[in-house]
Amino acid sequence: MRGDPRKTDGGTASFPALATRPFRYGDPVNEVRDSRVARRVGEAADELVRRSRSVSAVEVFVRLRWLKQAQVTEWRQGRVDPLSAAMTVRPDRLAAAARALGEWARERGLEPVEAAYTAATRDRRPLRFTEESGGDGGEDAFRTHWVSPGMTAAQRARLAAKLDQAPDLEALVPADPGWGCPSCHRTGGFQLMEDGAPLCLSCADLDHLVFLPSGDAALTRRAKKESRLSVAVVEHNRRRKRYERRGLLVEEAALERAEEQCLADEDLRARRRDRDRERRATQDVEFQEAMAAQVRRLFPGCPADRAEEIARHAGQRGSGRVGRTAAGRELEPEAVTLAVIASVRHRDTDYDDLLMAGVPRTVARTRIRGTVDAVLARWRA
Ligand SMILES: [Zn+2]
Repeated sequence: MRGDPRKTDGGTASFPALATRPFRYGDPVNEVRDSRVARRVGEAADELVRRSRSVSAVEVFVRLRWLKQAQVTEWRQGRVDPLSAAMTVRPDRLAAAARALGEWARERGLEPVEAAYTAATRDRRPLRFTEESGGDGGEDAFRTHWVSPGMTAAQRARLAAKLDQAPDLEALVPADPGWGCPSCHRTGGFQLMEDGAPLCLSCADLDHLVFLPSGDAALTRRAKKESRLSVAVVEHNRRRKRYERRGLLVEEAALERAEEQCLADEDLRARRRDRDRERRATQDVEFQEAMAAQVRRLFPGCPADRAEEIARHAGQRGSGRVGRTAAGRELEPEAVTLAVIASVRHRDTDYDDLLMAGVPRTVARTRIRGTVDAVLARWRA
């Protein structure tokens, strides 16, 4: 007879799978070890709740030194998947500890709040805790944040909103400046994880963004608000063993608008002078003029200021952009056309909104192709 063995024995007798299933919290053979783990989990949770009035499994793991905070960051960035891959403690023991936390919390009247746990990658995929997701509710135990009954309704609402929020997209300053992008084999100042691989900004279609270093909180806040697409930049501090914020990648126009807003309440002329000087130093004026002329030759309908903008952008030193490649330097029509297409994509279509919403790059490109072709045809005429 074919079929499920459970149907032939009424679901009560043991069948081979049961004998080899992982140990579970509460198995008699593991009682001593589990009670020890439960005690340590309880102590860690107690400490965490005293400090911040809430506690989660991941925080307990960090507290128990099963996990470093930097590894949690790498997991959020999509560099580690699932989280258990970064840990030496076995996944079934992690699940047991998470369940022990739940029991500890319920006994003390803490209330559960589910957290979304979304990756800081463009696909915004849900983060995985262990290889074995779902099933016996193990993942739910990892996801739950336990909240002290002493928390006010407003505090609770704030926490719940924070837990639900998708994190900022994150790019990394590579530890090895000579790293190679697996897609184009060139190097670049930033890495962004996509499908488990670190891509340069050009390959991730994000090289139209400019870097705003941390330091001016008002400018950063305004630039982020003005920019349709923004990416937080972090760097690993080896000495402190943690990731630190270095700045934000934003649209150039957004940065300019933000600066204008700051101008209203500060004397910004000096700052602008500094920035212009800095910008001139990274620009290759002659090349940019030649490139703008070539853009106008190939696309007579392209407005002059737009051609200049395309050339300025593509020719930025150290950007790895098309204007810095050999073909770009030679102003070959194909390379110049690529730079024009990149500009149209970001400026004249909703490409960036699609990317920010998690639409895969290839799908987004297909969707906007008609608009891009129409602009190019108009400019060619
Ligand atoms: Zn690349």
